[in-house]
Amino acid sequence: MMSAEFQKDITYLKGVGPKRAECYKKLGIETVFDLLNHFPRGYLDFSSPVSIAEGANTGDNAVVKGRVVKKLPEARIRKGLSIYKAVFTDDISDLTIVIYNSEFAFKQLETYQEYILYGKITGSVMRYEITNPLVIPVDSPDKIQPVYALTEGLNQSLLRKSMHTALEAFDGDIYEPMPKKIREKYNLCSYNYALENIHFPKDCHTCEIAKRRLVFDELLTLQLGMHILKSRSQSRTGCTMQNCSLNRFYDSLPFELTNGQQSAINDCIKDMCKSSPMNRLVQGDVGSGKTAVAAGAAFFAYTNGFQTALMAPTEILATQHFQTLCGFLEPLGVKVALLTGSLTPKQKTVLKQQIADGEYNVVVGTHALVQQSTEFKRLGLVITDEQHRFGVEQRAALAQKGQNPHKLVMSATPIPRTLALMIYGDLDISVLKELPKGRQPVETYAITGKLRERAYGFVKDRLDEGRQAYIVCPMIDESEMDLQDVKSYAKNLQEGAFRDYRVGLLHGKLSPIEKEQIMTDFKEHKTDLLVSTTVIEVGVDVPNSAVMVIENADRFGLSQLHQLRGRVGRGKYKSYCILITDNVNEESRKRLKILAKTHDGFKISEEDLKLRGPGDFFGSRQHGLPTMKIADMSADIEILKQVQSAAEEITTADPMLKSSENRGLQQLAFMLFKSKNID
Ligand code: ADP
Ligand code: MG
Repeated sequence: MMSAEFQKDITYLKGVGPKRAECYKKLGIETVFDLLNHFPRGYLDFSSPVSIAEGANTGDNAVVKGRVVKKLPEARIRKGLSIYKAVFTDDISDLTIVIYNSEFAFKQLETYQEYILYGKITGSVMRYEITNPLVIPVDSPDKIQPVYALTEGLNQSLLRKSMHTALEAFDGDIYEPMPKKIREKYNLCSYNYALENIHFPKDCHTCEIAKRRLVFDELLTLQLGMHILKSRSQSRTGCTMQNCSLNRFYDSLPFELTNGQQSAINDCIKDMCKSSPMNRLVQGDVGSGKTAVAAGAAFFAYTNGFQTALMAPTEILATQHFQTLCGFLEPLGVKVALLTGSLTPKQKTVLKQQIADGEYNVVVGTHALVQQSTEFKRLGLVITDEQHRFGVEQRAALAQKGQNPHKLVMSATPIPRTLALMIYGDLDISVLKELPKGRQPVETYAITGKLRERAYGFVKDRLDEGRQAYIVCPMIDESEMDLQDVKSYAKNLQEGAFRDYRVGLLHGKLSPIEKEQIMTDFKEHKTDLLVSTTVIEVGVDVPNSAVMVIENADRFGLSQLHQLRGRVGRGKYKSYCILITDNVNEESRKRLKILAKTHDGFKISEEDLKLRGPGDFFGSRQHGLPTMKIADMSADIEILKQVQSAAEEITTADPMLKSSENRGLQQLAFMLFKSKNID
């Protein structure tokens, strides 16, 4: 177990009274453990000074070493403003140190003493200057100083002092949570060393060693936490099914399944025949045909006498899934219901009763509706179309429902495998690698606004051939003004370039019924051109649409653009995507070019990861994982891989981390997920 000191309240430390403890609380620090886990944001590195000339005018802070040769008398500019100056030299150039208003700082400087300065150097050879530099004596042992996130009532030196006190309290004897053989195998320093050196590194090297250990711990803890989550939900299911033939289903499909679809369905069947509930993710690029997999799994459940619930994030998608599933399943005698907010209260009551009576075999709806108060007669399978907005937490909550039904998650976000293991560590994964036969890649161009008219002309040509098109305008902040912009953009098109065509407008502020009407009109080809905000991003399927124009394309992440682009090229027609941007900077051009030449969602997401960092995948709102203090999952991908093999080693031998050597890790995992109720 973790030593008692570690979990003591922070006021246990000398120099931290109740008042200061209040300040620390604002930073989320309540215990000594919390404090020591408040890692520096960065460091002031005094360890490698350069010459004054070299450090000058870089636009950045410089570190220089030298001595004070002369202190000038105080210059009192006016009441309350004094300037102190000293002349400093590195024996090549001179530098004037300018200190505003701090007699104290000035007094610290002694003539003929050597110092290291940290600050911005401006001016020229004649007169280099540094204002209010940070100063340490040349022989100071703290050449690298931590910089912490602060809050009112705290400053850097107070924090540093508290850290010192905390570390001293243990006197080099901090509890080691990591089993010895893992530490040795992965070449990790001790926890004690890591904490000392993350806060007060002797040099960059020790800092790196410390950081690696702490990142390892953090990722391992997360991975183990996910593992515990997974074993919990794997307990038992009341819905064990019997294997049976799905030939009736396969024969009735209008197409042949891809290998990926077939093996994903087989994975599901195998899982659903077990006595523990299925927890499976079907991951596939846009257009890879995840819905058919869902239909197969639902049909299997139906054949076994179980009901299936399919939850979608939006009404439009729920409606679309409903229609697709009806198409696949109703001819086979499966009864499918649609449960959305557009129903009247009375309709809802009636429908819910019928679901409870088991009159429907498959229920499609939005998350809210299906989860809330809907009773099933014999629910055996829950499918969620995640569209990367769901999270671990919800999945865990779902596991508690009913007879512990089987769960299938569909995700269109093709995230790199290592990241998938993190976000979906509690799930088994089936990947749909290939797209259905005959799909042609969407030809993609990036243009500037100057060519907009020509792009419109190109769109009109496609419409004349009988195709349909989308124009996507991002709503920048979803405000009224934004909405006006989109509305007038659509109006201009309808009255101008596209006056001979039927233009629809879809945006997030419409009521669900209006949205559905507009989508239905577009699906039924009652409109030719759909102007839309990003609400169409999520999985809309209209095979006749063959062109998409995206305005302000540089505002989107690559993965998002790829998702959008996936709305076209879904049928047999050659399709196009035109990205319009007036942002001509190198970075944004580079990004759009990647999209023009790449059609593999996995590759694109990896590029996105490199260019924009993991925020898109790891914004905590999206994935629901605990926030990481130190690990950056894209930069630390190598460690992540090692962590994954370590986690496997540990859990194979001791799945619930109950042995005494794993207790520390178990405790850390519980602490990390403490707000997530895995305990
Ligand atoms: P997504 O994986 O993006 O959800 P969908 O399930 O919406 O993809 O499928 C995209 C389109 O491809 C649909 O029109 C669907 O009918 C069609 N489709 C699915 N599987 C196949 C297949 N094996 N062969 C041909 N078309 C398919
Ligand atoms: Mg889909």
